[in-house]
Amino acid sequence: MSAPPVIAARGLVKQFQGLRALDGVDISVGRGEVVVIIGQSGSGKSTLIRCLNGLVEPDAGEVLVGGEAVRTHSQADWRRLRQRIGMVFQDYSLFPHLTVTRNITLAPVRTGRATQAEAEALARQLLERVRLPEKADAYPVELSGGQQQRVAIARALAMRPDAMLFDEPTSALDPETIQEVLDLMRELAQDGMTMVIVSHEMGFAREVADRVVFIDRGRVVETGPPDAIFRKAQEARTRDFLAKIL
Ligand code: ADP
Ligand code: MG
Repeated sequence: MSAPPVIAARGLVKQFQGLRALDGVDISVGRGEVVVIIGQSGSGKSTLIRCLNGLVEPDAGEVLVGGEAVRTHSQADWRRLRQRIGMVFQDYSLFPHLTVTRNITLAPVRTGRATQAEAEALARQLLERVRLPEKADAYPVELSGGQQQRVAIARALAMRPDAMLFDEPTSALDPETIQEVLDLMRELAQDGMTMVIVSHEMGFAREVADRVVFIDRGRVVETGPPDAIFRKAQEARTRDFLAKIL
């Protein structure tokens, strides 16, 4: 039997005041796979990715981690989901009153995954990895946007997640710092991290994605390898979107 997907969803529906943000979405991400989700503003990308790590609870459908369904009313299941799936947001969401190191050590220590000393050793390793060892004792406000985003990635990695989700991780960055974050994400992909990335960086998607998923009005319209999507999309809606963005 083949390995179950690291993360998957079946039939996800989410309504906000009668508006269907997700209208029956299926997605499945295998180990080491990099999936880039594209689509216009308001199409449901953030809602989808938030369902995949339990920040949004769907009205219908289910999320599966390692082939096991997260039980709808089980707080323990949702908590476990959030611990196994790392999340990186557009606005970094670092804790402003904590140093870089404390931002990284907080979750592993709180959840009992590591002692303070272990978590600090891991934080040092991760700060090397994201090339910010000199910022261990800095506060978020002292860092550039790109540096804050790299710390946010280190913080997510500190939980040793099964997969990482990124919601427009470079949209809030200055053009000159976008590349340093994309470079880091490319390295993670090369190291075999399972990743789901919402992004408008089509060059990055083309280069790094194993699969691109185009969503529109809460539905998956088309999915395929980047070459197929960017060069010969089957659906008119996909082609229209790409014509506008490329
Ligand atoms: P995207 O990330 O593709 O821009 P979203 O998933 O953020 O799209 O939003 C999809 C739709 O759901 C939009 O119409 C948005 O206004 C709506 N929506 C998202 N989150 C909320 C919320 N918390 N309350 C009300 N409406 C929401
Ligand atoms: Mg969004």
